[in-house]
Amino acid sequence: MALTITGLSKTYPNGVKALKNLSLSIGNSMFGLVGPNGAGKSSLMRTVATLQEPDSGSIDLDGIDVLKQKDHVRRILGYLPQEFGVYPKISALDMLHHLAVMKGMNSPSERKETVDALLQQTNLWDSRKKALSTFSGGMKQRFGIAQALLGNPRLIIVDEPTAGLDPAERNRFLNLLASLGSDRTVILSTHIVDDVRQLCPRMAIISSGELLFEGSPNDALTTLKGKIWSKVAATDEELGAIEKQLQLISTHLVGGQHEIRVYANASPGAGFRCVDSSLEDVYFLNLAQQGKDQRPN
Ligand code: ADP
Repeated sequence: MALTITGLSKTYPNGVKALKNLSLSIGNSMFGLVGPNGAGKSSLMRTVATLQEPDSGSIDLDGIDVLKQKDHVRRILGYLPQEFGVYPKISALDMLHHLAVMKGMNSPSERKETVDALLQQTNLWDSRKKALSTFSGGMKQRFGIAQALLGNPRLIIVDEPTAGLDPAERNRFLNLLASLGSDRTVILSTHIVDDVRQLCPRMAIISSGELLFEGSPNDALTTLKGKIWSKVAATDEELGAIEKQLQLISTHLVGGQHEIRVYANASPGAGFRCVDSSLEDVYFLNLAQQGKDQRPN
């Protein structure tokens, strides 16, 4: 399956330019779309999911014109939006049956087989008779995947699925995504870089509606090899000085001290050690570079 997005732009009525001439190719496998809050990820995902119109641009899904052949797209698409509706008092089992009927699964035996299999796959079998309103955040997200999988879609879009999950729930959810198989395309939109590192052979970074990077996480890491330097800044003054003189990528508080990471072709000075690059470096460096490009001359 190939999804080709070409020159997509969207300006909301309030003047916010959420997508700026964005082009992106997404093939089979899990694709990570990362970017800070407000980057335009949901706008892009909603457009691919045929839920909103762009101002210009085109989207092709294996020869289907996504912006025109909406019904066709909806038949092969599973979507877990960022805000997944209301969670009613009815059970997971009944709700899935109800949604399956709405998807056109009219045969009761086929429906039972599908619904039962999805409840097993998402590890909700034991809770299937409990009301959805009593589900934890992680269970709700897994139910969201179960409903997205109804009809065996070839393209699945999950928008910020791990936000707000505790580490155990997040892990469980990521494992579920990873198990969805190689025969379909899964687009995972997230602001959590680590989710992408664990799951996605290909990724893109977007910010302010623009594409900053597209490629494999490994390629991205290779380009930074030997160029990421770390040091603990002893004082705020030292941190300030480094910020002025060097290309600072990120600072993390470790045991109350600032551990800083900078980008440099050679050792930037005493006390710095060369460290393995991380996907977070790729991410922050791209964002910093974009900030620079957009600075007025
Ligand atoms: P992300 O999913 O990366 O957080 P969004 O696509 O939700 O980004 O938002 C991109 C930009 O568009 C943000 O500035 C957001 O405030 C704005 N935006 C999103 N939806 C709307 C809308 N319906 N009306 C106006 N502005 C919107």
